[in-house]
Amino acid sequence: MQANLYLIIPCYNEQEVLNKTADVLQKKVLSLIEQKKISPNSKILFVDDGSKDNTWQIINELHSKDKIFSGIKLSRNRGHQNALLAGLMSAKNLCDITISIDADLQDDTDAIDKMIDKYYEGNEIVYGVRSARKTDTFFKKFTAESFYKLIKFLGADIIFNHADFRLMSKKSLESFANFNEVNLFLRGLVPMVGFKSGIVTYERHERFAGESKYPLKKMLSFAWEGITSLSVKPIKLITSVGFFIFFVSILMVAYFLFQFINKNTVAGWTSIVISVWMLGGLQLISIGLIGEYIGKIYIETKHRPKFIIEKFLNE
Ligand code: UDP
Ligand code: MG
Repeated sequence: MQANLYLIIPCYNEQEVLNKTADVLQKKVLSLIEQKKISPNSKILFVDDGSKDNTWQIINELHSKDKIFSGIKLSRNRGHQNALLAGLMSAKNLCDITISIDADLQDDTDAIDKMIDKYYEGNEIVYGVRSARKTDTFFKKFTAESFYKLIKFLGADIIFNHADFRLMSKKSLESFANFNEVNLFLRGLVPMVGFKSGIVTYERHERFAGESKYPLKKMLSFAWEGITSLSVKPIKLITSVGFFIFFVSILMVAYFLFQFINKNTVAGWTSIVISVWMLGGLQLISIGLIGEYIGKIYIETKHRPKFIIEKFLNE
């Protein structure tokens, strides 16, 4: 049985690229159908994320010309991650596998073949990973790669140099649907699903037309979103700093008293610096302690599934 594939493409003001993208993806899907790798019912699903240009009209035209193209229109702009999720969740009951890819085709469409092969090898999730960042500026490469390292250090399980070009099977999507959180950072959440997963490397090109919808400001806020929605380590750092300062303050107290006994100080100095150091440390510890509980509440409110069963042998 060939798997039914849905390609999911979030689009925000993409009128410059959409027709060409549709053309390239259609050829890709048709060739996969011809090779009998995927079912003839496979589709290309565009999600219009509240575009202000002609994106939705173009999707409509594509759909009326050829039913291989489907479209979802969101009521307003909700951002890339939400648009992608809308597509994935709508497709999960209609297909066996989804592959998410950006509308500007910066990601190599030939990696799609390899992803499908990996799926047939038994992988429920296949991550597209960028092999080189030749087309990136030094600044973009440096900031992006530092971000991956930082978030890993903060304890989130994230695939290095993987964005949102990935294959997800119906099974993995159904499990993923149990993650109810509102702050979405998909590339950090998907690995939490588990199951056997694979990697396909590819080279990322430059956008062939139109402008990036991720200017620096949006990129920074996305990075911040990733850190704060995946990790409570920043709060824990406060506690550690608090304990460290408190420890240092004990050493300082010894030093201050030594100065005091040797009469190297003016009246009142010793008591003031002792209170500054000790209280500072104690306050940081207290804030950290409160933070620990807030962190716990934060995690609880996400209602993430406690476990996902992969197999159950019981006869
Ligand atoms: N996108 C979206 N909603 C938004 C911003 C972007 O659906 O609010 C889509 C956009 O149309 C594209 C993908 O997300 O398909 C990635 O955006 P872009 O290529 O501009 O980001 P970059 O590749 O520059 O990081
Ligand atoms: Mg892009």
